[in-house]
Amino acid sequence: MKKHAIIPIFIPHRGCPNDCVFCNQKKITAHQQPVTGEDVINTIETWLSTLEPRGTETIEVAFFGGSFTGIPMEEQSAYLTIAKGYKDAGRIHKIHMSTRPDYINEEILDNLKKYGADTIELGVQSFDDEVLRLSGRGHDSACVYESSRLIQSYGFELGIQLMIGLPADTLEKDLYSARETVKINPSIARLYPTVVIRDTALYDQYLNGQYQPLDQETAVFRTKEMYKLLTAAGINIIRVGLKSSDILSGEGQTAAGTFHPAFRQLVEGDIAREQIETQLERLLAYPAAEYQKPQPRTSQKEPRQIPFDRRIKADFYANRRCISNLIGNGGRNKKFFLEKYPQLHILYKVNDFLSDYQYEVKIKGES
Ligand code: SF4
Repeated sequence: MKKHAIIPIFIPHRGCPNDCVFCNQKKITAHQQPVTGEDVINTIETWLSTLEPRGTETIEVAFFGGSFTGIPMEEQSAYLTIAKGYKDAGRIHKIHMSTRPDYINEEILDNLKKYGADTIELGVQSFDDEVLRLSGRGHDSACVYESSRLIQSYGFELGIQLMIGLPADTLEKDLYSARETVKINPSIARLYPTVVIRDTALYDQYLNGQYQPLDQETAVFRTKEMYKLLTAAGINIIRVGLKSSDILSGEGQTAAGTFHPAFRQLVEGDIAREQIETQLERLLAYPAAEYQKPQPRTSQKEPRQIPFDRRIKADFYANRRCISNLIGNGGRNKKFFLEKYPQLHILYKVNDFLSDYQYEVKIKGES
């Protein structure tokens, strides 16, 4: 049984006055029909027809699309009235929306409270003012602190979305953004490596050489380091990387950058590899007597060397939810360990006594 599900309702911000360099919404939504109340009801009913028979414990209706609180107040209220009706009837449990930090004020929050909204996600993207400016966001980091404080003071659950690899972004700025997020202490976060989409200012900058997207390995590394900071602080990371359906114009619209359909697994796989390798190095440096005779150390700093004519069995464990992280996307961890530790005979095994994201290594001699 799935415990938690989100019913996404995409409300495009038609007539958005902002010019975020990575966004193609304005061009697309100019030709789109507005989302009607009937559309919202149809979407919710379609999802509930599969979620309700499964007994899903928590169902959220989520208004996505960037700037829910930037649309006229009466339109917000019309959508919220429908969602509240489902919440009051007990058919959904939470109301959720995403918006910009500069579209938060007391009047907006009073209205969201009135309709029983629960969670507000802010598209923060970066805490570095230069990155925000060059990305055309139209707000600074001070606005993020203030709107976050206001949202939390009303008792809403706060979410923060960060992007990696925007113009002028660096590893240090990404880590700074993650640390500032930890200070604000939202309940949830999303991490989005930048994807260059056609028909955007960023695409033009990419074509004329002004903007260079991150390569995939760099994007995975930076995202991984941010992921570790956020999860260590107890922040629930509900998404890593865009889904293809998040890219509004769909297939073939990503021109460059770091889009990967399993970006989260790339990040979580690398974290699994780090954990495994730390344990492995410790075990190999101080081997148990049963699989290796003590070898003289060349110096205090040098670990003992494993003789290459001895095969050592290494079993790597994860629970069944995380075994794919252990193996890595496309078997990349398997390949890594095979190449780096040719003296090992490695098996990947399930141990459901381990918690999620906990990995374990056991080694012994091979007869
Ligand atoms: S990402 Fe920026 S430009 Fe695009 S809809 Fe949101 S606020 Fe407007």
